[in-house]
Amino acid sequence: IQEVRFDGVGFSYEQGHPVLRDFDLCLSAGETVCLLGPSGAGKSTILHLLLRLYDVDAGAVRLDGLDVRDCERHSLRQRIAFVPQDPWLFDASVAENIAFGALEATRDEVEEAGRLALVDEFVHDLPQGYDTPLGEDGVRLSGGQRRRVALARAAVSQAPIVLLDEPTASLDPVSSATVVQAIRTATLRRTVLIVTHDENLAAIADRVVHLSKLDDVTDHAKKGGEQNA
Ligand code: ADP
Ligand code: ADP
Repeated sequence: IQEVRFDGVGFSYEQGHPVLRDFDLCLSAGETVCLLGPSGAGKSTILHLLLRLYDVDAGAVRLDGLDVRDCERHSLRQRIAFVPQDPWLFDASVAENIAFGALEATRDEVEEAGRLALVDEFVHDLPQGYDTPLGEDGVRLSGGQRRRVALARAAVSQAPIVLLDEPTASLDPVSSATVVQAIRTATLRRTVLIVTHDENLAAIADRVVHLSKLDDVTDHAKKGGEQNA
């Protein structure tokens, strides 16, 4: 299990429009933290900085004290299971997609993970690409279904760190409750950072952290309000 630390992180996609300024967050090894906040606050960006899809402009992101900029991206990918909002699947069966990278996973484990993530109906089907015509054994998966395939992949992976971006978005309440329990089971004894609006998911976290839009923080400070630190 690994500790994850954001130390005074500053980041902007475009000059003059900072998304994060002096952002601090520490997840101790084995901790599950939920990140809440309005759309556009920079929650997904925080996950992306840990994976080095982008690098910080200021401060540092550290894993067990090691600056991620000193880690190769592929080695980060081995240590960090990531379930993005819009996962991309390989041109292979759903089961193979779940097992990808999990060299030790047995067929039973893959099927069990698929069941827990509610993708067992089509676990042996071939998901179709976004543009390819639907073949005979093909199944077209929605964004939510692809997210759950990626969740099942994270479940069977041995990665010590798990990042989940809105894993229960667009699920009905009953399915959502099932997936929340699957996440809890799958991420035991791992360090977990979840972006969510789902209160049921926040309830299984050790800690909830609120991220505000930087504009709102700045406006608030200008009005003489105390800046939240
Ligand atoms: P959240 O996950 O909290 O909704 P994001 O991290 O997705 O927020 O985005 C934070 C801000 O950065 C938003 O204003 C968004 O429009 C902007 N942004 C996100 N990704 C990019 C990108 N690739 N290029 C430019 N701006 C981006
Ligand atoms: P609170 O309990 O007051 O909501 P949290 O424990 O959730 O605070 O921690 C959120 C931290 O992140 C606070 O220190 C807050 O100032 C900081 N923060 C919130 N939004 C941003 C942002 N966009 N950039 C940098 N830091 C932020």
